[in-house]
Amino acid sequence: MLSVDEALALVLEHVEPLPSVNVSASDALGMVLNEDVISDVNSPPHNKSTMDGYAVVSSDSGELRVIEEVAAGDVPHHAVTPGSTTRIMTGSPIPEGADAVVIVERTETIDGDRVRLLDPTITAGQNIMPLGTSLRRDEVVLTRGTEIRPVEIGLLAEVGHTRVEVTPWPSVAVLSTGNELVPPGEVPTAGHLRNSNGPMLTAAVVRTGAKAIHLGTAPDDKQALDQMARSGLEHDVLILSGGVSAGLYDLVPQILTELGVEQVFHKVRLKPGKPMWFGVKDSGERRTMVFALPGNPVSSLVCFELFVRAAIHRLAGRRQVERVRTTARLGIEYHQTCDRDTYHPARLTSDAPLPRVEPVPWRGSGDLRALADANALIVLPAGDHFLADGDEVEVIWLDETCCRP
Ligand code: AMP
Ligand code: MG
Repeated sequence: MLSVDEALALVLEHVEPLPSVNVSASDALGMVLNEDVISDVNSPPHNKSTMDGYAVVSSDSGELRVIEEVAAGDVPHHAVTPGSTTRIMTGSPIPEGADAVVIVERTETIDGDRVRLLDPTITAGQNIMPLGTSLRRDEVVLTRGTEIRPVEIGLLAEVGHTRVEVTPWPSVAVLSTGNELVPPGEVPTAGHLRNSNGPMLTAAVVRTGAKAIHLGTAPDDKQALDQMARSGLEHDVLILSGGVSAGLYDLVPQILTELGVEQVFHKVRLKPGKPMWFGVKDSGERRTMVFALPGNPVSSLVCFELFVRAAIHRLAGRRQVERVRTTARLGIEYHQTCDRDTYHPARLTSDAPLPRVEPVPWRGSGDLRALADANALIVLPAGDHFLADGDEVEVIWLDETCCRP
């Protein structure tokens, strides 16, 4: 059976970033840039004052005559000469002749036209940001491969890039399978339970940034499964849950194969998540990556976090697609015995010199309640582990968008 690392390597071998699209810069948040962005302006566009004050000749001192005022958006009309000064606001262009700005707090107004400098000496260049210090016209300011955050949206605006080439988000369909499932709004009768995987996996997709399409629930019936899986294959990724184990009604791998999805692997040496199935279907230009996850909700979410999320990020053009792994110190002693690599739900908190981690009490793959107390997974290779309080363990931190430990 494949290890987690081998399975992830196979997933990544089968995925390429989606073809580039051109979008409005305001829609590009979170996407990956697919071009080098060149500035059409200098920033600052002129030698600018970084403070409110007086533009002076730096060799001057004492009393000066105020010849002009330059507010934001204005340009100076007169040169500053020894004995004269221009009142200037933050961001305004420095008048010709001036080579320093004295901040208003270090001056005293004598009357409307005259001002006294309080400092005996002035340094040339003080409180002036020279033209083009931040960036120059024709300079590359953002490179291909950059993930667009709010700061990049700001920089694109500064350099006049209203549209950008980016890798789009993949569209990701989610299909739950199982005769026993009822929608969350219904009260389950005997033998039934609510579909928690569908909403959970859809939310997990949304959190990556991708477009999520919740297809609903398919019963364990060949015809219905075939039909619903078929519509899922119209997307870049299809995630199914349930029906991949060895039960009589676990029809998913067979249906997918009949639909032309080529199996890449079935089963991973992983707890929770062993029955996972992965395949690809190529039709025309589109490749659909198909992840059939185990029905147990914890298995389902762990497989999403380890494999599906990485595939979505790679489709969206990201280079770094794996979850951040860190070392943490156990907060209690912990025993674990398993013939598979184990990813145990845990609570990670900040501590020095290493974050502290405690496994949450967990009663198996159906115990979603326990996973709700977790923000990390403790990673343990197959085998017997008798770990003491304070021992170091490897953890995957799940809540990257929330608080850092
Ligand atoms: P399966 O993989 O179909 O054999 O399902 C394994 C277990 O997960 C069973 O106890 C199912 O009832 C449960 N299960 C399957 N799908 C879901 C779902 N969408 N939401 C909650 N539990 C599920
Ligand atoms: Mg089932």
